[in-house]
Amino acid sequence: MYTSTTMKGAVDDIDLVIKTLEKSGFSRDRFYIHCDAALFGIMLPFLKAAPKIISFKKPIGSVSVSGHKFLGCPIPCGVVITRSEYMNASSRDVEIIGSRDTTITGSRCGHAPIFLWYAIKKKGSIGIQNEVENCIANARYLHNRLSDAGIGAMLNEHSNIVVFERPLDHEFSSRWNLACQGNIAHVVVMQHVTIQMLDSFVTEFLHKRSFSRFQDYGSFQPLCIAEKVSIANCSCSMHNLYHDCAC
Ligand SMILES: *Cc1c(COP(=O)(O)O)cnc(C)c1O
Repeated sequence: MYTSTTMKGAVDDIDLVIKTLEKSGFSRDRFYIHCDAALFGIMLPFLKAAPKIISFKKPIGSVSVSGHKFLGCPIPCGVVITRSEYMNASSRDVEIIGSRDTTITGSRCGHAPIFLWYAIKKKGSIGIQNEVENCIANARYLHNRLSDAGIGAMLNEHSNIVVFERPLDHEFSSRWNLACQGNIAHVVVMQHVTIQMLDSFVTEFLHKRSFSRFQDYGSFQPLCIAEKVSIANCSCSMHNLYHDCAC
């Protein structure tokens, strides 16, 4: 789950997970669901198209979000929200500080909550919503540009992470600091990414790609990434055939 979320930008279907557990006979006291919502936990509530995906009205036990991702906190930090029954169970009296400790780590940075508070206040709900919508729109733009250029690419619902064929040119990948895993690479379209950046990324990608085709005397073929992103999103010579036919 970690890999699929982080590398492919998937949002797990919590309702389906819960339904499956309940259908299999697991009562609520026999499962615990933690929502690892590092990046998307801040974004989802601001998406008009996303219903309340993560909600304590559902039988989840906890949710965590990172403070240094969407909110841009300069210190690595995060927030965990859980039910009071679990908080009481995991907290303990600590003699040396003379109080009850309800945190996971014990000592922690006092500046982080101030930065988080500042980011939330400064942007405001409308500001965060605009940023989220902009990131999603730019991710769609990148996905469309790659697909139109015949590069296998995928963008999950409610996601700003575009997954595509790993570029074969190492210099290109390292210049853009691309995160690659096996045959796929991804771009996380955050607030600083502009249409101009995406245009130059795609143009350069295509240029390097056609160059490698030339080098191999026309033998270059798009990588097959169907196993990772499904046949519908793959541009390799075999799966490309499926796209235009009704089969
Ligand atoms: C970034 C990320 C993490 C790591 O979170 P940190 O707050 O940076 O430790 C965990 N899970 C997912 C899905 C992530 O995107």
